[in-house]
Amino acid sequence: MSVRFAAIGALLMTLSPTIHAAVPSGDAHSFANTREFRATHLSLDLQADFARKRLRGHADLTLQRLDPQSRRIVLDTRGLTVSKVELLQPQPVALKFTLGEAQPMLGAPLSIELPASAQGKDVLVRIHYETSPQASGLQWLEPSQTAGKKHPYLYSQSQAIHARSWIPLQDTPQVRLTYDAHIRTPPELLAVMSAENDPDAQRDGDYRFRMPQAIPSYLIALGVGDLVFRPIGKQTGVYAEPAVVEAAAAEFADVQSMLEACEKLFGPYRWGRYDLLILPPSFMWGGMENPRLTFLTPTVIAGDRSLVSLIAHELAHSWSGNLVTNADWDSVWLNEGFTTYLERRIIEALYGRERHEMEDTLGLQSLQRDIADLTEQGDAALTKLDMDLKGRDPDDAFSDVPYEKGRLFLGFLESRLGRAELDRFLRGYFDHFAFQSISAGTFVDYLTKHELDRADARITRAELQVWLDEPGIPALAVLPHSDAFKRIDAQRDAWLKGATPAKSLDTSKWTTHEWLHFLDNMPADLSSARMAELDEAFHLTTSTNAMIAHSWLLDAIRAGYTPAWPRLENYLTTIGRRKLVKDLYEELLKTTDGKQMAQRIYARARPLYQVPLAAQLDELVGKP
Ligand SMILES: [Zn+2]
Repeated sequence: MSVRFAAIGALLMTLSPTIHAAVPSGDAHSFANTREFRATHLSLDLQADFARKRLRGHADLTLQRLDPQSRRIVLDTRGLTVSKVELLQPQPVALKFTLGEAQPMLGAPLSIELPASAQGKDVLVRIHYETSPQASGLQWLEPSQTAGKKHPYLYSQSQAIHARSWIPLQDTPQVRLTYDAHIRTPPELLAVMSAENDPDAQRDGDYRFRMPQAIPSYLIALGVGDLVFRPIGKQTGVYAEPAVVEAAAAEFADVQSMLEACEKLFGPYRWGRYDLLILPPSFMWGGMENPRLTFLTPTVIAGDRSLVSLIAHELAHSWSGNLVTNADWDSVWLNEGFTTYLERRIIEALYGRERHEMEDTLGLQSLQRDIADLTEQGDAALTKLDMDLKGRDPDDAFSDVPYEKGRLFLGFLESRLGRAELDRFLRGYFDHFAFQSISAGTFVDYLTKHELDRADARITRAELQVWLDEPGIPALAVLPHSDAFKRIDAQRDAWLKGATPAKSLDTSKWTTHEWLHFLDNMPADLSSARMAELDEAFHLTTSTNAMIAHSWLLDAIRAGYTPAWPRLENYLTTIGRRKLVKDLYEELLKTTDGKQMAQRIYARARPLYQVPLAAQLDELVGKP
């Protein structure tokens, strides 16, 4: 996932102690008894009911029996209405089931009793159910919330633990399963999944999918809407609403080259096709690396390919994350830190060293802000790479720490091993653990065996320990620097001192990155008059680049620059990407007038936002 929100806020949910009770899987965020039964295949048959905002149908789970004595299967659910459970194999019979008490973060365990006669290594159970209109992993959009305004749109977001809100299953990344699905929709809509998609599929409301590679539950994904397909390269293409598809195909034209660059560095792409699904702007995340079909926010369509690092990121997850997967959310840096490192290597291969340095530097600045916020909130433990998320919502682990501190760790390895040796090591690592879920401990063992135990080892165990267990940025880190940004700093200083008027700043060659660096590092006490000078020179209030507009609006709130208010309101009521909206609310809440404005805007914006974001903003801004 690509998230990178600037300020985490005081929203890390502290939950009732009951969740510590039973963790039979060894994963604190799942009820599933995976040591007794382990799912190997899922077969879905679902109808998308847009009028009632529900998916309805059944899920067939094939489970391997690991404990011959066990007669009970426990699955994860959240908000599901389960009407019937049947055993299909070894023999058809209705099964007794109980849905336990729902817990705020984890949902409710579904316990299924097997008869003594159900012997054998594999069992196949069918669960008849329907989802709730408030399912945390589904977003049902009205036509008015889409680009085309004529048809509704549905998309899923299963990471971290939201798959259970639309499928009863073992919702832990320890378990990998293949799946197939039969999805029925209104005939004028097209369904796509994180599976084999047929670019030539007939739009008839009846779709079948097959995912032959075993993936963790958080990568099961569904999108339904007025979607059309445009090919980009030989194995790449884009699905989007007709109004968006041409701009998206042009913006992401480099995706095939990115895929080939990554293959050259880190070994074969093992998933067949790589397509993109462009979601409406309400999508809470930047992107989601659903295998074969990345889900993407439209806010990175800037018109100049300046924000395509997000695609490089989601694509890189085809190696780190989807191929080799963190076995629990405590080890999420295994997914995100490796992926951020790979992402920057793809950017360097396609766009050169200078852009790589700028993106690393922006990443570091964002990491430093997150570490400062977390430390101030008393959550310094969340600035370690190896986290302990017991009792916390795993969604809240997705600060910049696993991403950018993880990338710094890989950068440290590169500085000690040399780039050629690190590349060789990573290639071996992806091959060795392909299609497996591993903990951070397993990675450490592998690194120790291949690098630390060598006679000519260039990294010590003590150094590794510092990286994993200490909060903040270790003194060992090799920090990025950018000469391009030094030139921006000099221009900003000249303007702030009054030596150069805004109109005379040499911005003609600035890319998005340079604008972000310029705006993000303005002093907090900038006056409204000086904001007006910038706005007159560069028309920042009307910037169509969502990232630049975000940085500008943050500055505008700090300065009390009222001419930006209509744009701010429009921005917050059309975009639901957490990284872009949450810190704007947080900045508004710092003053009494700002708080009133935040509450008024939030009351209008809330129906657009995804369920988990709305839950966070309810806490922050107050439920309207
Ligand atoms: Zn990611």
